[in-house]
Amino acid sequence: MKKILTLCFGFAILSSHAQKESVFKKDFTKPEATEVWEPKPKIVTPGMGTAPPSDAIVLFDGKSMDQWVMAKDESPSRWVLDKGVMTVKLGEGELQTKQKFGDCQLHVEFKIPADAKNSANRNNAGNSGVFLQERYEVQIFNSYQNETPLYANGQTGSIYKQVIPMANASSKPGEWDAFDIYYTAPRFRDNGSLEKPAFITLVHNGVLTLHHFEIHGTIQYIGIPKYELHDKASVRLQGHGSAVSFRNIWIREI
Ligand code: MG
Repeated sequence: MKKILTLCFGFAILSSHAQKESVFKKDFTKPEATEVWEPKPKIVTPGMGTAPPSDAIVLFDGKSMDQWVMAKDESPSRWVLDKGVMTVKLGEGELQTKQKFGDCQLHVEFKIPADAKNSANRNNAGNSGVFLQERYEVQIFNSYQNETPLYANGQTGSIYKQVIPMANASSKPGEWDAFDIYYTAPRFRDNGSLEKPAFITLVHNGVLTLHHFEIHGTIQYIGIPKYELHDKASVRLQGHGSAVSFRNIWIREI
């Protein structure tokens, strides 16, 4: 056994030594020295128009809500599915994916009601939201041209009460919006403490509105955000007093 261990140890030293040797032997006056040939990136066929990329997990394609359950009890979705669109059913609360996710690219299209009130009152003012990992909300609200009297870090495209988006690209109530979200999940140490916070980049209707923003922690209506240990978790759509609609939702794990 001792002999085997010694042999393994010797081999490890030799192989690491060999690697260093090969680096040292590189001639950096030659272009080949900085060429890396493997691995090749995986091939993904891009989605043209509104189609998702070939490796995306389609969360909602307009035909069924099978990928979704009610957040409060994981029962089948009771939101309204009609004409390829799913809409918040008032009083039923939030919807979440059956599948759990970490780092991801997420595409969501949404529409706040044409009659959404021009009011900071959350009721029928287009309040909804996309929660990453059930905790970090990208806000949806009637923010068209900043006409609604609401704090700026609570309007569409904010990380709710954490950051004001760099621009307001909101569509008119009754017209469709698109979020493209690029998200890195937080990392936690074995003892549950935070090792690295979550980061988010948001493109709203083609406009970069959050650029690698460091999320401060779980969304708080009152008080200061803080992190709590969690694993992969669902994408959640908020039902919050307004019949906001959704279509064409897909995600790529990264
Ligand atoms: Mg909201």
